[in-house]
Amino acid sequence: MIDLRSDTVTKPSPSMREAMARAEVGDDIYGEDPTVNRLQEVGAALVGKRAALFVPSGTLGNQLSLRAQAEPGREVIVEGRCHIIRYEQGAAAALAGVQLHWVTGTQGLMTAEQVEAAIRPKDPYSIQTALISIENTHNAGGGTVYPLSTIQAIHAVASAHQVPMHLDGARLFNAVVASGVSAAEYARHFETVTFCLSKGLGAPAGSLIATDDPGLLERLRRFRRMYGGAMRQSGILAAAGLYALKHNIQRLAEDHAHAKRLATRLQQIPGVAIDPATVETNMLFFEVHSNKLSLPAFVAALKQEGVLINAVGAHTCRAVTHLDVSAEMIEQAADRIARVLK
Ligand SMILES: *Cc1c(COP(=O)(O)O)cnc(C)c1O
Repeated sequence: MIDLRSDTVTKPSPSMREAMARAEVGDDIYGEDPTVNRLQEVGAALVGKRAALFVPSGTLGNQLSLRAQAEPGREVIVEGRCHIIRYEQGAAAALAGVQLHWVTGTQGLMTAEQVEAAIRPKDPYSIQTALISIENTHNAGGGTVYPLSTIQAIHAVASAHQVPMHLDGARLFNAVVASGVSAAEYARHFETVTFCLSKGLGAPAGSLIATDDPGLLERLRRFRRMYGGAMRQSGILAAAGLYALKHNIQRLAEDHAHAKRLATRLQQIPGVAIDPATVETNMLFFEVHSNKLSLPAFVAALKQEGVLINAVGAHTCRAVTHLDVSAEMIEQAADRIARVLK
């Protein structure tokens, strides 16, 4: 089976499992798990921040960042198709009690002008803007990468209005590898930065929230406990995260090359519409137009051929490359897609 549904399907490799089995552990609620402490140090340093907090999921990383930086009844500016709006079960409203103010971006990317227009005036009537959140790479936008200049311009607007910024960097390292901009250079503009150790980096679970502010770190830690995200001998998971950061960042370039290659192959298949130039990282969105097969029938037929992809719209499919997909599997996937559409 060639599983292109998401990079979340990656499984820990034998050597990652070995590192997990060997991990030294302790009770992390007492701050005594040496492997978690090490992961937090390494992860913070990697994004140029003073400290980081290990959390079970990227969703929790985002939600704690919102909860710790925006009082209930405040507003958070986000892009309209972001993960926080679509895939976090309304947690921003249900748990943080914040209102999301969304801006419709291009391929998921907001401009500084749009963000500035969304910041509320400081007057006794208006709701107040507490936070600006940016997603890089942008998942639903197509795995798109924020140009550093756009982030700098948004940061200038945020600073002028004294609004902090959060980076949902679930796939930050895909952006880093694709753009050549360092993680620290991106992260410099944000009070909180989250990134996933699972997905393309291959760990089974876990994310980090990084920050420079010790007071904010304490709030994040308190809310992590409140939300049920504090763990005990989680060094076993942290060991997988350390392994992922050491071995699986640079190789994301292969996933990006595979996505480009698949896009180029798909472009040549009658009935498929895709512009390979839109493929910036490890995701490709393509349209399927067949007068014989509906989209669900196409996805089902492809599954019969041993290829899994997701339908994400009336005619649109998403395929995602990752560390469990080889160059050869990409060629096979393209062959099978062509066969199904013939
Ligand atoms: C995957 C993802 C997250 C975190 O999701 P979890 O399922 O909680 O790991 C957050 N933001 C984006 C953009 C994501 O793609």
